[in-house]
Amino acid sequence: MIEGLTKKRFVDGKIRIALVYPGTLKEALSSLGFMIIYDILNRDEETVAHIFTVESPLSVEENLPLKAYDYILSSIHFEPRVTTLMQYLERMGIPLEREKREKPVYVGGPGVWNPLPLYRFADGVFLGDGEESLPSFLDVIHERKDIHLPGFYNLWSEKPTSFSYHDMSFMYRHLMSDETTYGRRPIFMEVNRGCHYACRFCLIGWAMRPPRERPLEDVYTILHHHVDRGGRKVVFVGSDVLSYPHIEEVIRDIIGMGLEVSVPSSRVERLDDPFFLRVLAKAGVRTLTIAPEAVDEGRKAFIAKPISNEKVLEIVEKAKWAGIKRIKLYFMIGYPNTTEEEVQKIIDLYRRVKNILPAEGTVSVFIPKPYTPFQFLPMERIDNTEKYVKLLRKETDLNVMHPKRAVLQALLSIGDKRIGDLLMKVYHNFNYHLWIRKARDMGIDIDSYLYQRDTPWLKIISTSMPASLQRKGFEVAL
Ligand code: SF4
Repeated sequence: MIEGLTKKRFVDGKIRIALVYPGTLKEALSSLGFMIIYDILNRDEETVAHIFTVESPLSVEENLPLKAYDYILSSIHFEPRVTTLMQYLERMGIPLEREKREKPVYVGGPGVWNPLPLYRFADGVFLGDGEESLPSFLDVIHERKDIHLPGFYNLWSEKPTSFSYHDMSFMYRHLMSDETTYGRRPIFMEVNRGCHYACRFCLIGWAMRPPRERPLEDVYTILHHHVDRGGRKVVFVGSDVLSYPHIEEVIRDIIGMGLEVSVPSSRVERLDDPFFLRVLAKAGVRTLTIAPEAVDEGRKAFIAKPISNEKVLEIVEKAKWAGIKRIKLYFMIGYPNTTEEEVQKIIDLYRRVKNILPAEGTVSVFIPKPYTPFQFLPMERIDNTEKYVKLLRKETDLNVMHPKRAVLQALLSIGDKRIGDLLMKVYHNFNYHLWIRKARDMGIDIDSYLYQRDTPWLKIISTSMPASLQRKGFEVAL
């Protein structure tokens, strides 16, 4: 049972949009970004947007096939999901080549902010926040090849564009369901966007500037609206939630309403106050998530995330005192010149944390992201990274990303049109050996993407952080 689905029928709209989530329905109902897009589209009087997921060929609202709709929109939060979308569209009989397709396909989300690898597939790409560009987009959606808006890259005309952000004055309401990855009837609360920090690898820290805050009265309006609809637990969404100046007050009020809270990964600077940790524990937060990313001092300076290991341990001690039951940690490897000593330090810190509280963690592999200083940085050689992955798996129970997956993800993240040609041949299988073999057949030098780097997206898209500053950030890191 999903509450809040649009009551508009297919025949009610002049613009009929299939909004495809490249994953399961449960995931779609756990993605606030996706549900906000759904809300915006259906607020438009002339538009009907219905949900599709990869689990069904028919729309959730009316059991109609994808082919019945005029436009296809999708939201790609991380790069590999574009292959999931392509596989689904192919199964539904939709041609993947833009030139051969009558129905336009538009995509958005941080996984496609470098649109070049999609140049043969998508018609256009939304950049930045959908709230900024979608309403004006609906006015010109019929124009396909001639759509030109800020925050939108048209893959037909290939005209340069830019994206930036304004405020968070828009309101939202989201779907309510028992079937989500956060349990029954979560209320998704977004109090801010972007991040006050600027870690050099991070797309959010660089391409979502400046950080923005939702006015407090709007936070309460959204909260009360969803509480009235039977929301059971408040899930805060965002990368820097605890920087919101009124966060403690909001959480205390949520406790007063008898609801539980879930908070995402937080900067340790925001977790230093044991009494605030106590508030979190009282609000039902059982797991505290911390993302040191690096443990070696030199590496911390390099990535611009200087969180001291002693501070991490101190926070874990305070969290234990406050009643938090579990710690979740995020680390990253795969920078050039990684050493065994550096990886050993991750293992040691993880063990020390586990001596204080039960812990789990994830180690991701560095993937260069466009518009960040590290878009210029080579990846570590794959055999080296594989060696360290083996070590981490042998010595810990950390969940470690596979370096071969990271290579494919990187190709989509910092690829160009040649990678777009490759994508059209390999989308059906996200398999390293297939991609490398096919690239070789096509004369594409994969190493030139991973270990040297051109940045063609900077010639067509500008963000609020000038490319010169992105370059400067890279030079400072070196
Ligand atoms: S890694 Fe986290 S703290 Fe750093 S810029 Fe990104 S979101 Fe902010």
